[in-house]
Amino acid sequence: MKDFEPANEIQDLQFFGEFGGVNPSISDSSTYTFMAAKTMFDTFEGNADGCYLYSRHSSPSNLYLSAALAAMEGSESANTTASGMGAITSTLMQLCKSGEHIVSSRTIYGGTYAFMKNFLPRYQIQTSFVDITNLKQVEDSITPQTRVLYCETVSNPLLEVADIEALSIIAKKHNVTLVVDNTFSPLSVSPIKLGADVVIHSLTKYINGSSDTVGGVICGTEDFINSLKDVNQGATMLLGPTMDSLRAASILKNLRTLPIRMQQHSKNASYLAEKLDALGVKTVYPGLKNHPSYERYKKMINAQFGFGGMMTIDAGSLDKANALMELMQERNIGYLAVSLGFYKTLFSAPGTSTSSEIPMEEQKEMGLSDGLIRISIGLDHDIERTFQNIVMCMKELQIL
Ligand SMILES: *Cc1c(COP(=O)(O)O)cnc(C)c1O
Repeated sequence: MKDFEPANEIQDLQFFGEFGGVNPSISDSSTYTFMAAKTMFDTFEGNADGCYLYSRHSSPSNLYLSAALAAMEGSESANTTASGMGAITSTLMQLCKSGEHIVSSRTIYGGTYAFMKNFLPRYQIQTSFVDITNLKQVEDSITPQTRVLYCETVSNPLLEVADIEALSIIAKKHNVTLVVDNTFSPLSVSPIKLGADVVIHSLTKYINGSSDTVGGVICGTEDFINSLKDVNQGATMLLGPTMDSLRAASILKNLRTLPIRMQQHSKNASYLAEKLDALGVKTVYPGLKNHPSYERYKKMINAQFGFGGMMTIDAGSLDKANALMELMQERNIGYLAVSLGFYKTLFSAPGTSTSSEIPMEEQKEMGLSDGLIRISIGLDHDIERTFQNIVMCMKELQIL
């Protein structure tokens, strides 16, 4: 694959509106007319390129956004969905049928974990959850029934790094599809370049960046994306997680500032992680030299976008974590809220919120401690001031 710069790919797109507008026109239709009945038939059969049939299948606005995201990820094609979970569930149901098997990282988004653990077994699809950094365990868990190897580039919430290149070698050897959720590291990491087959994003987070909508995307080969849209067999066509055109147009406009936002998120998070770590706060950030995957991640990233905007700190206990989050909100350091990628800093205690689907026992085993706070660092203009304010809160609560 060509050596590409994901931000340039976004910058270089040229979509004009039908009246010469600098933004593409928004398609405000659920259905489309045909000049000839034969063309409608061909479109149903999937062989009338450039014709629209019905907006659950595809719409001009969704195709613009999909094209931009495919360009960003360096994939042949992409398909947007109404949420990240819509992208994940459609992909897994397209790739796996009854009796088949998934090998997945155990440190993944709580909703994805719940879907694999509780929902897919209804269809006799079983998942083995593994330590994704243990490549031998990953390979040993693959059976003749395995269809998918699933991971997050940087895992939620523990910020473990998946060695995508090494995983793709294992996936190819056993003929399984490597699916990577790249939600935490858009632009920073280009999983397709590293050998992933399918890349998923929750657009809800960094890519849209304004916490005003949910959205998702599946990036992959032309063949795979077409199979998802197939009128008779396709998961996105038949399950219907379709994004609305107005929203697709809005996300496309926000995508254009992603490169500068990611740089600022990374710059701010690096600064805070280094400073807090130096003060003795238990800090996890993949850009810290003491992070177990620091060296590998450094080689994986497109350096100009840095190590990302996510970090965790350990406040010592759940009570202290809760008190610290409440105080930080009171002092307007950020909001006590799930999600990430907003201009404001967002924090939550993953044990009690986004990972609550994972049983307590398993949370302990993965190192998800009670006092853990997951922080999505905002676009703060003055991060030194933010640092001072956090330290003040910690001192008041005797965490420091
Ligand atoms: C939020 C999130 C999802 C789910 O996306 P939604 O848009 O909320 O459906 C999936 N994976 C990761 C890593 C996430 O952070």
